[in-house]
Amino acid sequence: MEKQTLALHSGYDSLSGYGTMAVPIYFNTAYNFGTADMAADRFTLKDLGYIYSRLSNPTTDVFQKRLAALEGGSAAVATSSGQAAVFATMANLVKSGDTILMSDKVYGGTVTLLTSSLANFGVKTKVFDAENTNELESLIDDTTKAILFETLSNPQISIADVDSIVSIANKYDIVTVADNTVLSPALYNPIKDGVDVVIHSASKYISGQGLSIAGAVVSSPKLNEKLKNNSRYPLYNEPDETYHGLVYSDFTDSFDIFSLRLVFRVLRDFGMTISPFNSFQLIQGLETLDLRMEKHSKNALEVAEFLANHPKVKSVTYPGLKNSKGNKIAKEKFKDGLSSGLLCFEVENYDIAKEISDKTKIFSVVVNIGDSKSIITHPASTTHSQLSQSELKTAGISSGLIRLSVGLESAKDLIADLKQALD
Ligand SMILES: *Cc1c(COP(=O)(O)O)cnc(C)c1O
Repeated sequence: MEKQTLALHSGYDSLSGYGTMAVPIYFNTAYNFGTADMAADRFTLKDLGYIYSRLSNPTTDVFQKRLAALEGGSAAVATSSGQAAVFATMANLVKSGDTILMSDKVYGGTVTLLTSSLANFGVKTKVFDAENTNELESLIDDTTKAILFETLSNPQISIADVDSIVSIANKYDIVTVADNTVLSPALYNPIKDGVDVVIHSASKYISGQGLSIAGAVVSSPKLNEKLKNNSRYPLYNEPDETYHGLVYSDFTDSFDIFSLRLVFRVLRDFGMTISPFNSFQLIQGLETLDLRMEKHSKNALEVAEFLANHPKVKSVTYPGLKNSKGNKIAKEKFKDGLSSGLLCFEVENYDIAKEISDKTKIFSVVVNIGDSKSIITHPASTTHSQLSQSELKTAGISSGLIRLSVGLESAKDLIADLKQALD
């Protein structure tokens, strides 16, 4: 089936329950096991039915199944935020002493999570260039457990060289993790290009209207094979004493062991569970994702073309623009060459950048992306203000850089708004 159809129907049978067409919100913490034996079977994972909503919930299940179908994954696990999705993924792969290879162009929260908070837990991070991967292989050693990058990065709008990252990772049987927040499953599916784990901040395009904070982790049908009997990943191949010595690799291939462990170890212990209400809202978001991504992308292209011709604008970064650096890959990999709603442009300096954001009337000064309403952000004074000068430079963020998240308004009005702010 095509993605537009899956987004509306997969993971839910409207003839189940009361026959409701909309997926019901199961606003529920606990489940009645009926008998003590059934309760015991659930706790030893002999029966994978519902135990408690920190682990799983019927409304959340529909969202997870639908997202997995849209990404071409074997399973998905929703989390309370995108940050939680990144943390949960890493907690499902690394132990103290291990190393994560992280792209130099990722979300500011991912940088601080890995380089500071996970460093406090004894997990090391090494940085690589996701556009030019020449040095990536030299960073790999026995402690390397994950290679993390963003498919289209926020806020630099840089496209990762997915094919080469995947081929290097596969040579060493290392798990690749792609944050696909900016493109969304409507425009690109990293799993089809061999990525093992796809992360989303569902707070952005999937939620769609700036409504819910949420995240998700999708695993590839090929990930079981990479983890099983791979000495790099003891968490999957050695007994889990908290489940009486269960070994995740012993599950048959009808179970996705990465998402199984993510639920039964990571959600169980760290508790970054999504609310069923937010899962319900994300289900509504998925229904229109395809339509919205098309309109976001078309509006962004019109805005980018306007900015590229404005004398006060030093440069525009948008892969949808002809002659831009990413245009060739965008055309080759993204649905119809559509490049999402995010773009960056550079003006002379910090003060001018701040002045422009103050003068816009339709674009709001907000640190978010993927809302239906257009947003203007000055990363150097907001999202990336915690980074040092040298970290900003590595992240490719100049002080005059402005990020736009182009919404679903009329492109004509958006361009008029930017014109009066720039002139
Ligand atoms: C926003 C964002 C995150 C973090 O997600 P939250 O839902 O805000 O916690 C992670 N990665 C990218 C690319 C993002 O844009």
